[in-house]
Amino acid sequence: MVLVSEPGSQLVAVDVETSSRGRFGSEPIDALGRWAEFREWAEACQDQGEPITPAELGPPVPQPRQVFAIGLNYRAHAAEASLEAPEHPPTFTKFPSCLAGPAGELALPAGSVDWEVELVAVIGREARCVSPDTAWSHVAGVAVGQDYSERELQTSGPAPQFSLGKSHPGFGPFGPLLVTSDELPDPDDLAIECSINGEAVQKDRTSSMIFSVPELLARLSAVVTLWPGDLVFTGTPSGVGMVRTPPRFLQPGDEVVSRIEGLGELRQVCV
Ligand code: ZN
Repeated sequence: MVLVSEPGSQLVAVDVETSSRGRFGSEPIDALGRWAEFREWAEACQDQGEPITPAELGPPVPQPRQVFAIGLNYRAHAAEASLEAPEHPPTFTKFPSCLAGPAGELALPAGSVDWEVELVAVIGREARCVSPDTAWSHVAGVAVGQDYSERELQTSGPAPQFSLGKSHPGFGPFGPLLVTSDELPDPDDLAIECSINGEAVQKDRTSSMIFSVPELLARLSAVVTLWPGDLVFTGTPSGVGMVRTPPRFLQPGDEVVSRIEGLGELRQVCV
């Protein structure tokens, strides 16, 4: 596990296990389970670290125990899909084997692969029946995510296959950093955008979400227990390829750049 800071534009990484002399292990989920203690150590850490590139980074949490993903969480996206805005957040999973780091190649499987830029919230303290007022205190940090989706499998059969259609290898890149909410002027209102080969295809603000991060954690934790390291993909704005006329899907050579204000960017080249 590395602790990454970004003085200027150069990413610098500290090996947490070495620098902490084994107090924290090599798996990020160790630190997420002791998040307050880890933050205290990290803030006092004097290690200068080594330069690192986004391509060398894996996902901030490689092996979460649970991954939640929310559908239709932006009104304009529900409308473009000709669906009603939901009264309860539609929830599915992205199986953890689909998770990937922030930069690299995306191997396109057979079918029709679409893009969905999303804010990802990472749990840092167990949450069960939390209220929206205190929900941010259960979040370790947020990151940029992509919910790549193969639409033919997603929509096939008598019951939709959201979880499988969104879980091919590399379909869940997120990062490049896990940013704590105190680093953001307003963690509930961040510019979010996706571009393909430089053309903006999605552009909105996270304040347009129907269910905000605190509201999602309240609703999810009313049913399940959220554990440290769990991920919540919070839904995508309008501008996906499936509902365009004609529909547009990713092709080999396409470069997808996903950005959220204050959180950095993801960059995948399709092969
Ligand atoms: Zn999505």
